[in-house]
Amino acid sequence: MIGIICHEPQRPFVKEFFELFKTPWEFFRAAGAYDVVLITAPTPVIPDARLVVAFGACRYPWDADCVVEMPAEGRSIRVDHGEHRFPVYGRAARLEASPSPLATVAGGAGVVIAEYRDGARRVVRVGYDLFEEVRLLLCEGQPAEHATIPTVDVHIDLLRGWILRAGLPLLEIPIRPRACDFAVCLTHDVDFINMRDHMNDRSVLGFIARALIPRNLRNAHSQFVWSRLWKNWAAVLSLPAVYLRLCRDIWFDIDRYAEIERGLEPTYFFLPRKDQPGEAAPGAEPVSSAAPALRAARYNVGEHASLLADLKNGGAEIAIHGIDAWHSAQQARTERTIIGSVAAEEPAGVRMHWLYFSPSSPQHLERAGFSYDSTLGFNEAVGFRSGTTQVFRLPGTARLLELPLNIMDSALFYRGRMGLSERDALTACGDLIDTMKKYGGVLTINWHTRSLNPERNWDSFYLELLSLLKAHRVWFANARTVVEWFRGRRAIRFEEVSGSSARVKVACTATGGSGSLAEGYTLRCYRPGTAGSHSVSDIPLSGQEITVTF
Ligand SMILES: [Zn+2]
Repeated sequence: MIGIICHEPQRPFVKEFFELFKTPWEFFRAAGAYDVVLITAPTPVIPDARLVVAFGACRYPWDADCVVEMPAEGRSIRVDHGEHRFPVYGRAARLEASPSPLATVAGGAGVVIAEYRDGARRVVRVGYDLFEEVRLLLCEGQPAEHATIPTVDVHIDLLRGWILRAGLPLLEIPIRPRACDFAVCLTHDVDFINMRDHMNDRSVLGFIARALIPRNLRNAHSQFVWSRLWKNWAAVLSLPAVYLRLCRDIWFDIDRYAEIERGLEPTYFFLPRKDQPGEAAPGAEPVSSAAPALRAARYNVGEHASLLADLKNGGAEIAIHGIDAWHSAQQARTERTIIGSVAAEEPAGVRMHWLYFSPSSPQHLERAGFSYDSTLGFNEAVGFRSGTTQVFRLPGTARLLELPLNIMDSALFYRGRMGLSERDALTACGDLIDTMKKYGGVLTINWHTRSLNPERNWDSFYLELLSLLKAHRVWFANARTVVEWFRGRRAIRFEEVSGSSARVKVACTATGGSGSLAEGYTLRCYRPGTAGSHSVSDIPLSGQEITVTF
């Protein structure tokens, strides 16, 4: 059992941290008995526990180290801890005269994590505040330069490592959905359906320019693909026939997605209103009341009811690509009603068009009845904007969960964003897949509609990416289902945890037919052995309640 001593305002972030690191814990009680105590707020005496982890740039009266705060200079620091290199965004201090350093600041700026013994007690002293880091990551996110680091999960990994190093037992619910390495959500923002909806607008002119002078004709293996050039030119030449409805629309590729993704349960985000650019972006300069006209959809979703029905029949989920939902609960409700009436089903989720989002968006979306949002990702990078591979709860909400967005086609390939070649893009995606394999969680991919066809021709790359994923033990499921898996994991409770046993209670969730028992949760037990080693066993949570001894 872990006891927590923290500042009062940190409590929500402590709770969220321990939904992500699902292990027995409680706020410190003087009468409690703890193997581990984590501290971020001043305590006059060092608590009685086998492991004390003291965080912060402050000085504790019982500190063995000399704590010297580092000048912030408005920048994060990079910390090297064994195999991990990760950023720290808040206040940080150097620990001087530390005999046993565990982590240093990159660039030789000193020790930031150290370990020492105090009688039978082991103390890990950390020169930054864990829960302030969690707050910054979940509320504000991290900059694109650190996109590839799942920083919150690294913090979990470090804490787990310190506990095991101290020879203590540990229980946790791993984030390996259905005993897979990780889950994958294939999603599609439907910004475009048909080229016929567009007449000489910027989208079409951009299409013609990029089709005639394609930037990237090499595939993921650096082979030159002439057929892309011919396909592009043929597409441009066919434009009159497209507008006269004499041939198939050259942007429409949703049927190809349906073919490629059979059985993989994709999620489609449809724009609810035609010709509405919506309000200007949060913090837009110069301040104007409307977003650029280009943001408006040129299709009317109401005319595509049979397409949505076909997608649903094929196992796809229909969700909302929000226009104004991010700034108003009323607008969010209206957009939800529009898509709900066309899809003949209340949509559970939303992702904002152009990833517009503000600090109050979570509350608006929750009030409108959404169960998840999937907006938080980068327009100009791939990776972990909120620093986690997991579904998490946004501050200020009770039920809404965030499914972070990790890989987006336009972020990889567009000039002015990452602008990668297909070979480098495949390497970047492969690196993220390796990270997912290590940490578990869910990888969310957004491949826009129209991306399989000229002039983008990102179809062969997408197939490469899918086969890369299929080489691992992954669970492909739609966004709603994956979010409910995480919701079910959050509902698991550790009860009556004593020194050597724990009762673990699994609450029933609404999905999975037979409830949570079908969801494949496991309990991982680390039992200390000899010479600092642990035996690790995974126990399937196959009943409503189990008692384990360790
Ligand atoms: Zn969009």
